[in-house]
Amino acid sequence: MDGDQDTIGFIGLGHMGAAMAERLLASGRGLAVHDLDRAAVERMVAAGAKAAAGPEDMARRCSIVFLCLPSPEASRAVCAQMQAGGALRVVVETSTVGPESIRQLVASLDSHGVSVLDAPVSGGPRGARAGTLSVMVSGAAETLQAAIGPLQAIAGKLFHVGSEPGLAQVCKLVNNAISAAGMMAACEATVLGVKAGLDADVLLDAINAGSGRNAATMDKFPRSILTGSFDYGGPMGLMLKDLSLFIDLATSAGVHNRLAPATLAAWQQAVAYSGPEADYSEVIRYMEADAGAEVRARAANAAPNSTTTGKPDE
Ligand code: NAD
Repeated sequence: MDGDQDTIGFIGLGHMGAAMAERLLASGRGLAVHDLDRAAVERMVAAGAKAAAGPEDMARRCSIVFLCLPSPEASRAVCAQMQAGGALRVVVETSTVGPESIRQLVASLDSHGVSVLDAPVSGGPRGARAGTLSVMVSGAAETLQAAIGPLQAIAGKLFHVGSEPGLAQVCKLVNNAISAAGMMAACEATVLGVKAGLDADVLLDAINAGSGRNAATMDKFPRSILTGSFDYGGPMGLMLKDLSLFIDLATSAGVHNRLAPATLAAWQQAVAYSGPEADYSEVIRYMEADAGAEVRARAANAAPNSTTTGKPDE
């Protein structure tokens, strides 16, 4: 890879990472990319990025490297490969990996002169494409300052929640525990509403003008469930990780959880039914199949190819 220290590195070009990397390219920055999936790298190269040979190559040449990876294990593996360093000064961890993994990344990189900026994101692939993500950041002020330009290229709103890396992960896990419980509550209750005779359009309008509204009823339902398009973006299986990390955090803090374990159990059933790679919005499908009722708009029901109850591959 040709490059210089002004080139931003980006590792992990999936649903979220590719969209964030595109924002960085659009901001006029040089971008070096890496992913285990060659096709994902080739798409970014076609858009103007340079392919790095791997994490070691990137650490040799880029002073700032963003990570957007699917698991704590993947983040640890990539950071271990970047320890030899070179130009690398800041790793911006946008993945949701939990505070304990962030402490491990700090421990593995600190002695190599590399700082970690804990920077998980919320807003989904659509928010990432639009540059409207909520970015929760924790880390030293000078580390944030070093990465502020590229962070602003991907963030709609940026919240510096503390100087200790790991605190932003706590913020993100709290957000996701609320988001997941709200999604499950909305799925369960609206399936019942439709089964009991309500029109789905009217039901959602009433909820969204009332006290039951949440991010699921306001955004995910109208976009991807009522329409039957199931294209919200992002694999539903990732939430199993986030809920498990939230429960681990509660356990280590000595705080008793009531709702998160129930949400996790419901999410596990959804993943068992639709598969971990199914769209996030498909978590409702197993409840619909169970009840024999679909939460669809009148227009979606009238369409000749409207979806039917059942697994997506059926
Ligand atoms: P994804 O599965 O779509 O993408 C992950 C990418 O990482 C894939 O392209 C994969 O090939 C690559 N990868 C895996 N291991 C690798 C390795 N060792 N080296 C290089 N590349 C590797 O996941 P996503 O939806 O983009 O999510 C990424 C992170 O962002 C996760 O931590 C997730 O929790 C978080 N997040 C996701 C969403 C969402 O809506 N999808 C929203 C906010 C935060």
